[in-house]
Amino acid sequence: MISIVIPIYNEEENLQNLYARLTAASPSWKEEYEIVLVDDGSADRSLEMMTEFARKDYHVRVIKLSRNFGHQPAISAGIQEAKGDAVVIMDGDLQDPPEELHRFLDKWREGYEVVYAVRTKRKEGFFKKLAYSSFYRLLAAISEIDIPLDSGDFCVMDRKVVNTIVKEMPEQLRFVRGLRAYAGYKQIGVTYERAERAAGEVKYTFKKLIELALDGLFGFSNVPLRLATYLGFIIAIPSFLTGFFFILHRIMGFKVLGHTPAEIPGTTTLTVGMYFLGGVTLIILGILGEYIGRIYIEVKRRPFFVIDEIIEKE
Ligand code: UDP
Ligand code: MG
Repeated sequence: MISIVIPIYNEEENLQNLYARLTAASPSWKEEYEIVLVDDGSADRSLEMMTEFARKDYHVRVIKLSRNFGHQPAISAGIQEAKGDAVVIMDGDLQDPPEELHRFLDKWREGYEVVYAVRTKRKEGFFKKLAYSSFYRLLAAISEIDIPLDSGDFCVMDRKVVNTIVKEMPEQLRFVRGLRAYAGYKQIGVTYERAERAAGEVKYTFKKLIELALDGLFGFSNVPLRLATYLGFIIAIPSFLTGFFFILHRIMGFKVLGHTPAEIPGTTTLTVGMYFLGGVTLIILGILGEYIGRIYIEVKRRPFFVIDEIIEKE
């Protein structure tokens, strides 16, 4: 059996279409299937509509979370509850077309344990595209694992991978595509054209996107921490040499640019140096703060989602 996990947050405009297209595409999967819809605290008619699907179609199960926990926790809830031998993750706004899924499943049947989707084209604004592509390149450059470029959450994972993620990666801050890459196994990318959101507003606010990006960067890299050391060296070595020069200058009294030691106008140098160092110190403190904040969240060990109810056909 395959499980299709879809996080849903206020997608009333898309649900009917999503369900119809999934059902229409289902024969191409050549497998028994279940659709695991995770209701991430929707405030519109989404839950009502999903409940209706679940009541009349035994393929559909609805996992109702107790509030809005966010996209990544919702996915985590879905894969935890999924029962399939393969688990698919896709978005609820039809940006990941159900009609493409059979190509991914073919690769899974060939023996790949993770088949992730790689976007060839993004139908989004120029700046969003630029931001995404720089983020993925920065992440690839500094992270300790190989997170494939331009791959999102859309993927098929074998039961083995799902078990590794669900049972052995208890971290609270869940950057699922990073965890998936970390899990290892035989992985392969399959390209697809990412569609536009079928209807409705984007549910990821700018703030949530930044948070996701930071979770990815700080969760999978210690390079930012090392930045402090590098910057320290870069600033300290010339400063030391300059200091040494000034001491010699003061003791030996030779002229620099026609000035004797007492006349040296050093105010500008001092001020610029002070502000620069102050700025650098604050940035480094901020980076330390990012990690400490994350450590704090992790040690609290709170559940990263709370399941209120599971709705399925009796
Ligand atoms: N989503 C969610 N919880 C949230 C935000 C989004 O479950 O807090 C779901 C949303 O319903 C959609 C998917 O996550 O199915 C991706 O969201 P969206 O399309 O808004 O973001 P994109 O990744 O396309 O920018
Ligand atoms: Mg979307």
